Amino acid sequence: MLDATNMILAANPKAQYETHKEEIDRAIQETLGGGRYVLGEQVQRFESEFAAYIGVPHAVGVGSGTDALHLALRACGIGAGDEVITVSYTAVATVAAVEMAGAQPALVDIDPDYFTLDPKRLAGALTSKTRAILVVHLYGQPVDFPPILDFAHTHRLRVIEDCAQSHGAMYGGRRVGSFGDAAAFSFYPTKNLGSLGDGGMAVTHDAELARQVRMLRQYGWDGHRESLCAGWNSRLDEIQAAILRVKLKTLDEDNEKRRRLAALYGRLLKPAKLNLPPERPNCRHACHLYVVRSAQRDKLRSHLRKQGIETLVHYPQGVHQQAAYRDRNLSSGSLSVTESACREVLSLPMYPELTEEEVTTVCRAILEFAGVAAQ
Ligand SMILES: *Cc1c(COP(=O)(O)O)cnc(C)c1O
Repeated sequence: MLDATNMILAANPKAQYETHKEEIDRAIQETLGGGRYVLGEQVQRFESEFAAYIGVPHAVGVGSGTDALHLALRACGIGAGDEVITVSYTAVATVAAVEMAGAQPALVDIDPDYFTLDPKRLAGALTSKTRAILVVHLYGQPVDFPPILDFAHTHRLRVIEDCAQSHGAMYGGRRVGSFGDAAAFSFYPTKNLGSLGDGGMAVTHDAELARQVRMLRQYGWDGHRESLCAGWNSRLDEIQAAILRVKLKTLDEDNEKRRRLAALYGRLLKPAKLNLPPERPNCRHACHLYVVRSAQRDKLRSHLRKQGIETLVHYPQGVHQQAAYRDRNLSSGSLSVTESACREVLSLPMYPELTEEEVTTVCRAILEFAGVAAQ
């Protein structure tokens, strides 16, 4: 019988903990002895190290990626009566954050090759209430920036980046997260940079936006603990920051391992009748997920499961199709590309500690399903 110990897992945050166990355990011990457990020196250091990594002057640690999006939107002055254009083909968190800010999501379709916001849909979604475009670098693939930034500039819209799946990804040699007015990162354990709990970060070039997020994350406090505005409680804790500082040092190396595994998948799966994920020209994909597309997705998935291979589906439904959102009329135009992707996508195992042998095993099982002999 196959069990969790000999399955090939889709993601494996424990393997990464084990890789860095000594250093992480030491960082946790030191933090425990430090006597400060929330928003202390570890958080401050991690904020400046992460800002430097992304290539922006300001980073503000918060409780989750969802909160980072929410507070970044609020800091941009987006709220009730405003509309934010984003995609339905994303984690629910993207759309939830827009609603947390009190704004109305206007969901547009993706382009079929790269699964990211289709810039051709922007004009149809624009209304007099539109204030921002929230782009998602899905699976680690940067969005098609030039037409999106042009459109935002022409119509005076804010651009906010959801970088929850794209730590380290690059467009034209610059890291994503450094293009928009603000960007949000998640440190959920399975992300490319993952804590051992929850965490998030808002980053920006704009000192005033950063100051706003700093206030909003803690009751609207200024430096003297007077609430200057109504805020929330969304803080990053010291232990998570200490762990993230350890892992940030090897993020590029870990992403490189992901990219090598993606290249191996690409080579071995060429004979299978599958759509393999391309990399946008002039970009560096962070390979958060390796997502193939098959008309027989569900059958392929159960074939792999029987062989002890775990896969996931990102995403089985667009946000607009899910129970909480279905009757809310959030779509702006057709979402048929989103809906057909939802029927066909499959996320194969992908994490830095996955071995080449395991990738070969996965590919062999896929080729067997496709009736093609492994080469
Ligand atoms: C994970 C994720 C989020 C939310 O991050 P949390 O830390 O779980 O709140 C937002 N957007 C996308 C695209 C994600 O993958």
